[in-house]
Amino acid sequence: MPITPLMPVYPRCGVRPVRGEGCYLIGEQGERYLDFASGIAVNALGHGHPKLVKAIADQAATLMHVSNLYGSPQGEHFAQRLIDATFADTVFFTNSGAEAVECAIKTARRYHYANGNPQRHTLITFDTAFHGRTLGTISATNQSKMRDGFEPLLPGFAYAKFNDLEGALALIDDNTAGFLVEPIQGEGGIRPASDAFMKGLRKACDEHGLLLVLDEVQAGYGRTGKMLAHEHYGVTPDIAALAKGIGGGFPLGACLATEEAAKGMVIGTHGSTYGGNPLAMAAGEAVLDVLLEPGFLENVTAMGERLRSGLEQMIPNHDHLFESVRGKGLMLGIKLKSDSRRFVAHCRDNHGLLTVAAGENVVRILPPLVIDESHIAECIEKLSEAARVYVPASDD
Ligand SMILES: *Cc1c(COP(=O)(O)O)cnc(C)c1O
Repeated sequence: MPITPLMPVYPRCGVRPVRGEGCYLIGEQGERYLDFASGIAVNALGHGHPKLVKAIADQAATLMHVSNLYGSPQGEHFAQRLIDATFADTVFFTNSGAEAVECAIKTARRYHYANGNPQRHTLITFDTAFHGRTLGTISATNQSKMRDGFEPLLPGFAYAKFNDLEGALALIDDNTAGFLVEPIQGEGGIRPASDAFMKGLRKACDEHGLLLVLDEVQAGYGRTGKMLAHEHYGVTPDIAALAKGIGGGFPLGACLATEEAAKGMVIGTHGSTYGGNPLAMAAGEAVLDVLLEPGFLENVTAMGERLRSGLEQMIPNHDHLFESVRGKGLMLGIKLKSDSRRFVAHCRDNHGLLTVAAGENVVRILPPLVIDESHIAECIEKLSEAARVYVPASDD
């Protein structure tokens, strides 16, 4: 067999979407799927949201791309709105999550360099973390499935157990720059950081002059019912990476930082050809307009509670299969007692329901943030029916 035209790095399934309508995807043969995957937490407004579509179409006709050589009224406006809505004082725009994390790592290193401590370059990261697929971001996880064969990787990372505060603190030494952590691990299996863990990391940062760098690429931007997920913990980061939902499907990411943390990022230290171009800014503004509508985030919380209680009521009826529900807002996971990838495929192929598998045999439920009760009822119905007829593999 010759190599496929698309480099064969993904185990692509048989769903071949050609159109989207709100919370549904439509395949080549007209088959309909309830999309509770949202392109992995990206399509925050669902598919074909009229405000997002119009903003992109209008901006494409007006001005798509210039260069960061020129002034950016579009970027300044959107950055100011992000600053007003978050902890940040300054923003660097990227085209993806990994690039936003890369900028966060660079910003953290430059902070200590600017302070005259260039040896403080190591970020403490965590087991089962996922920060992207660039060489820098795969160096920031200790998962061998992402690292094998790509060595030599980037030095300057140390790895502790997620939610093990003592273990993380024990790794602090003269080379430590700070912590890089997802407030809720997504790929790792919808694992929320504990309150004590997040507060403890913040406290250690304050005591030792370290930076708290959050990867909010999946958990941030309204997904959990808060603008950013760290708001659940009453701690603020120094730097945060955003992407996924921020563009609602348009490739966009952002690295947010406080003025102090960004002190090393002066002219010439970083850049991106596309980052923050007018088209991306228009998409970002349209998504943010919807997110900041009165009651929008409250509705995410309400829908999250409803979905969660629906899942929790369903679980005891299929306790050979389901173990528990976890997560926050509309970033939920069902922990299975057998292979979650196989069950995700069964829901998709036999029941028209799209979800995403994650670590620890978790089924990720990541619906568009615009779902209503009817979509939740349909999801629970499909999941219940899928579970009722499901036969786990005999070797699970
Ligand atoms: C998806 C993800 C990334 C990487 O984003 P890309 O846009 O694929 O580069 C980084 N961190 C987290 C937590 C993610 O979920």
